[in-house]
Amino acid sequence: MKDKGFTTRLVHADRVINQPQNGAVHQATNNSVLFAFDNAQDLVDVFQGKAAGHVYSRSSSASSVSLQNILADLEDGIAAITFSTGMAAISATFLSLLRAGDHIIMSQFLFGNTSSLASTMQGLGIQISYVDVTDVQNVAAAITPETKLVYAETIANPATQVADLSAIGQLCEQSKLLFVVDNTMTPANIFSPKSVKASLTIASLTKYVAGHGNVLGGVVVDTGLFDWSEFHNILPIYRSADTQQWGLTQIKKRGLRDMGATLSPDSAHSISIGLETLALRVERICQNALRLATYLHGHQNVQRVYYPGLADHPQHYTARELFSGYGGIVSIDLAAHIDPLAFLNQLNLVLCATHLGDTRTLGLPVAHTIYFENTPQQREEMGINDNMLRFSIGIEDVDDIVADFEQAFAALG
Ligand SMILES: *Cc1c(COP(=O)(O)O)cnc(C)c1O
Repeated sequence: MKDKGFTTRLVHADRVINQPQNGAVHQATNNSVLFAFDNAQDLVDVFQGKAAGHVYSRSSSASSVSLQNILADLEDGIAAITFSTGMAAISATFLSLLRAGDHIIMSQFLFGNTSSLASTMQGLGIQISYVDVTDVQNVAAAITPETKLVYAETIANPATQVADLSAIGQLCEQSKLLFVVDNTMTPANIFSPKSVKASLTIASLTKYVAGHGNVLGGVVVDTGLFDWSEFHNILPIYRSADTQQWGLTQIKKRGLRDMGATLSPDSAHSISIGLETLALRVERICQNALRLATYLHGHQNVQRVYYPGLADHPQHYTARELFSGYGGIVSIDLAAHIDPLAFLNQLNLVLCATHLGDTRTLGLPVAHTIYFENTPQQREEMGINDNMLRFSIGIEDVDDIVADFEQAFAALG
C-alpha cells in the first residue's frame, strides 16, 4: 500500500499488514502470557531466535508485534519495538545502548521527564553535554572522541524551539554518530525523522498517536540508516545475523526483556484504533493551533506567544522547511498583571490538566508544575518564564476555543 495516501494506509494497515483471520479487520487481542509448543525443539528454536514466534509475553506477543509492524511501516523503518510508555522507550534505548564513560549530546530544551532521566544517567557515569539544538554549530562544537549519540526533540515543549534537524542529521552521518529523534510532537503525517537521517525515532504513543487520553505507550523505530557495525557497545551475542538488526535486538533484549516495561495487548489494540484517525486529528489540531496563536499574538493581555507557525517565531523558517504542520502546542507569557493560575481557573472549555496531544484542549502553568523541581536559572536556560502557560490544542471547533479565551480575558483583563 506504499503508493496510497497516509490515512488510506492507516485505516487498512492492520488488515493488510497483519492479515487477521476470518475476515476480521483488526488483529485479535490475545492476552496469553505463555505459549505452549507441541515439539520441544520448536520452543528451543524460537528461544534462540532461529524461528519466529513468542515464548513469553514480556518480550513479545501477537498484539505488540501487530502494532510494531504498523508503526515501522508508518515511519518507513526496518522494525519497531513498543513499550508500556514513552519514558520506557526512551530509558530502554539509553540504558541498553550506553555505558559508563560514554558521552552524549542532548538538546537543552527537553521534555521534563527526559531531562530528569538524563540526570540519572549522569549518576551512572554517562557524560552529557546539553546544547542549544536550534543551531547545528553548537552540536558540532560539543563532539568529543567519546560521543556516541545525539538526542533531540523536533518541536520542544513548552517553548516550541525547533531543532536544526536536517543539519544535525548530516553532521551525525559524517561523524558516524547515532542520531535519536523524539518525534512525539510531530507525528508521521507532518514529519518523517528518516528524511533528516535519524537513526532511531522514538515517540510517546500516549500523545497524538493514541490521541484520546485513554492509554499509555511508547515506541522505538530503527530507520535502517545507521551502520550498527560502527557502534562499539553492541554486545558480542547480538553481533550475529544482519547488522541492520543489531541495535533493535539489543534494545529489545536489554531494554524490553530485561527491564520489563512491556506494552499490554489491550493497550496495543487501543493505540492501533487511535492511530487510524491520526492525520485527521493532527491536521485539525494544527489548524486550530495556528488560529488560536494568531488570535493571541498581539493581544494586549499577552506578552509573548510561542508557536512555530507564527512568522516572528525564531525558527519559523526551519519549521516551514521541515514540517507540514506546526504542531499542537501553543504557549504564552501572560501580561504581568494577570495571574496565570487565575486565568486557567477562568477558562471553562479548556481543561486545566497536564498531558498533551489529546482531542481536548488542555492548559497548565509550566513553571509551577513540570519544571518546579528546576532552579530559576535552569528554567531561564530552558526558556521557561514564571507567567508562562502551555496549551495543548484539541480538535474542538476552533471558534469555541477562541471564545473561551476571550471570555477569560474579558473577566480578568
Ligand atoms: C509525553 C512525552 C514523553 C513521555 O511519554 P509517556 O508516554 O508519557 O511516558 C516523551 N517525550 C515527549 C516529547 C513527550 O511529550
